Amino acid sequence: MRISVPREIKPEEARVGLTPTMVTALVAEGHEVFVAEHAGEGAGFSDESYRAAGARITSQEDAWAQAELLVKVKEPIASEYDFLRPDLTLFTYLHLAASRSLTEALLDRGTTGIAYETVRVGRTLPLLRPMSEIAGRLAIANAAHHLQHHAGGPGILLGRVPGVVPATVLVIGGGTVGEHAARAAVGAGADVTILEANGDRLRQLDALFPHARVLMSDTHRLDEELPRADVVVGSVLVPGASAPKLVRREHLSIVKPHALLVDVAVDQGGCFETTRPTTYDDPVYAVDGIRHYCVANLPGAVPVTATQSLTHATSPYVMALARGVDSALENDAALAAGLSTRAGQLHSPGVAAAFPDLP
Ligand code: NAD
Repeated sequence: MRISVPREIKPEEARVGLTPTMVTALVAEGHEVFVAEHAGEGAGFSDESYRAAGARITSQEDAWAQAELLVKVKEPIASEYDFLRPDLTLFTYLHLAASRSLTEALLDRGTTGIAYETVRVGRTLPLLRPMSEIAGRLAIANAAHHLQHHAGGPGILLGRVPGVVPATVLVIGGGTVGEHAARAAVGAGADVTILEANGDRLRQLDALFPHARVLMSDTHRLDEELPRADVVVGSVLVPGASAPKLVRREHLSIVKPHALLVDVAVDQGGCFETTRPTTYDDPVYAVDGIRHYCVANLPGAVPVTATQSLTHATSPYVMALARGVDSALENDAALAAGLSTRAGQLHSPGVAAAFPDLP
């Protein structure tokens, strides 16, 4: 099969869909691989490293034109819609429910779209999980920075030093993001509390974090914990729904005046009522004097790590698709759950619910 990797052109995006290691594996199975010039540079891979792995380096246009299977990271943006064709399979994050124009473009052009974010194994989303792990770590790294004096913060060290009370971190939602935020904060020596609503998960977290307080999440507990926190990390997810607004505007009057509110769930609408998406260029804003940090694409800051972590997860699916898209979709229920569009028809129940008038 002819497999291509274009260069990501969305702002603040330097991850890449295939690594040279994956190219070597694909070429060994007899596939042809095309890589757009400079596609891997931001992720630490030179054109030469892809060439050495057996890929052909092409223009951006040729990478799209040659592809039977195109492996990306971000959803196509409007200037890429003209590249979509019926004989193309696109494997990438798609987030179609958030974009009617992309959904229509894929349907109108008959492209097969398989979305990373809906590939599902049981209850887990294996192609979302690596980015949540990174986002959790970065939530704490960025909070540590913004607690510092020169960053406009109160001048508090997130970690522990002998004889001084450490910073207090409240993590709301102990899933993948919350667990990795808690790992980073506990590792630094912060005083960490995790609020989690699912009893089974709460017990897992309790075993994982003997040095943190793991508590059942309810509104009374939240009212008690918010005033203690120097950093609040919002990381709840209710699958298939927008995030519940657990921290209301009136809560801003009970948090510490210097507290930093980090809403990682911003991509699902945010779990703070006062959340709005920000970017790394201008990440922090204040509401009622309380600083909010709500960067929507946290992993974009670490394209080298994020590309490796993402491609470790995507690699087996890319190999299966390269052997044949039909057989891969027939034989792997996880991949079939990712099928969003094919031959002008919507296949994803979530996207169909968002756009009931589309075929
Ligand atoms: P997850 O499903 O692993 O975890 C969510 C957790 O929230 C679950 O354990 C669930 O039981 C818990 N929860 C639900 N309702 C709750 C409540 N009322 N109180 C406390 N806990 C509650 O999800 P995840 O992978 O950790 O993702 C969390 C959020 O972060 C999602 O919105 C995801 O899209 C987002 N995310 C953002 C970025 C970014 O760059 N901003 C990156 C990755 C993920």
